[in-house]
Amino acid sequence: MATQTDISNNTKKAPPDRRPIVVSGPSGVGKGTLYGMLFDRHPDTFALSVSHTTRAPRPGEVDGVHYHFVSMEAFEDLIAKDGFVENAKYGRNRYGTSKMTIEEQTKKGKVVVLDIEMEGVKQIKQSGISARYIFIAPPSIETLEQRLRGRGTETEQSIQERLAQAQKELDFSKTPGVHDIIIVNDDLESAYKKFEEFVYKPLE
Ligand code: ADP
Ligand code: 5GP
Repeated sequence: MATQTDISNNTKKAPPDRRPIVVSGPSGVGKGTLYGMLFDRHPDTFALSVSHTTRAPRPGEVDGVHYHFVSMEAFEDLIAKDGFVENAKYGRNRYGTSKMTIEEQTKKGKVVVLDIEMEGVKQIKQSGISARYIFIAPPSIETLEQRLRGRGTETEQSIQERLAQAQKELDFSKTPGVHDIIIVNDDLESAYKKFEEFVYKPLE
């Protein structure tokens, strides 16, 4: 079994299991925070699958780094060209993982991390791509709402849509066998430890 010492010795090393890692969970639960810590602590090891989205960038978000920010027209054009591995509607916007993104990131020799919602998770499972699935759960809906509000990025309407969607994500996460691990993001460092331990788990 990997001990904490083993994990810290793995810094900058790729995990034994190189399959893409699909991270899902309600908006505001801390997905980005957790994989951001993974990227910081293991530089040059992981690559985010940069999704396409029709939503507007938040302050600090960079086109091509956090997302490919595109118009609805460009998004629909890519669907018509069969350019997505998966795509979904979320609130009033569309999000999708392009085939090109997965290819580009995999070519870099890095372990690809996908941050996607539940319809995307279902599509990836059906696509035949072999991946690992992590679900991040909040300690409670109240805490989730505090985090969403505390992040200060959403309008009231967007907060309400995200909370409604959160309940669907939490219900879906109870489907047996859908996720390889469910991590409750209560104390950040404890949740991170579980996240990293799972990512660096030896091959079975
Ligand atoms: P997501 O990527 O799932 O939408 P974020 O990573 O943006 O969520 O986190 C939402 C907010 O919650 C951010 O302001 C982040 O700093 C905060 N946060 C994340 N994890 C924790 C935690 N364990 N305890 C308290 N706040 C947290
Ligand atoms: P946000 O607007 O907060 O960045 O993302 C909203 C939701 O869309 C989150 O649940 C996030 O995981 C999901 N998401 C982001 N990119 C993709 C994607 O490419 N495909 C799918 N299906 N969902 C995505």
